[in-house]
Amino acid sequence: MSLTLHDITVTLGRGDSRTTPLRALDAEFPAGRLTALTGPSGSGKSTLLAVAGTLLRPDSGRVLLDGADLTALAPSARARLRREQIGYVFQSGNLLTGLTALEQLLSAASIAGWPARTVRGRARQLLTDVGLEHRVHHRADTLSGGERQRIAIARALLLEPALLLVDEPTAAVDRTQAAALAALLADTTRRQGCVTVVATHDPVAEAAADRVLDLAALRAEAPATP
Ligand code: ADP
Ligand code: MG
Repeated sequence: MSLTLHDITVTLGRGDSRTTPLRALDAEFPAGRLTALTGPSGSGKSTLLAVAGTLLRPDSGRVLLDGADLTALAPSARARLRREQIGYVFQSGNLLTGLTALEQLLSAASIAGWPARTVRGRARQLLTDVGLEHRVHHRADTLSGGERQRIAIARALLLEPALLLVDEPTAAVDRTQAAALAALLADTTRRQGCVTVVATHDPVAEAAADRVLDLAALRAEAPATP
């Protein structure tokens, strides 16, 4: 399993706000490795994750997961792939209103076809792993931004995705928590053999990565605008 982005160009916005965050980008992400995707704010990190996670269709180029072109999938196949194979952690956490931390994990599992009783133990363990054992039965919408994002990370890990995409996981937590989260993501990646891409500008998260891909450097290598 590996993720390949081939000749990806993305243009966003219109008129004055039109930008091309990714231009003729080529990148390869091996399985079992955590890649830290770095670059200054606005360099296209979140855009790259959205393209890799099939949430955003590039203007051109191909996204290959284990050789299969994800940009060629029908919408229903793409949705299924996202549900079953892709763990996507948005910077905002993207949790469901009204559910507790544990319920967030169990409902995602259920949607992916895993009955709650088969995953409850692991769900609780993962919430402990992200430092939320004291928040298991708290409603997620009453928790802090950092806690919400940690729930989202636990939720993504529960489904053992082939592709794990995480946007700025350590931005809203203290330094000790950041190191623990980065280590958890790195350990899980090596143990489960998934392709993991973490967008970050946090040296703590970079330090836990197996490799660092600097988008600003890649951009400098790309062909100039015609
Ligand atoms: P990063 O995650 O590295 O901070 P982003 O991928 O979020 O960068 O954004 C890359 C560039 O694309 C930025 O200049 C941003 O302003 C622009 N951008 C992002 N989303 C949109 C949008 N929906 N419309 C117009 N421009 C956008
Ligand atoms: Mg971003």
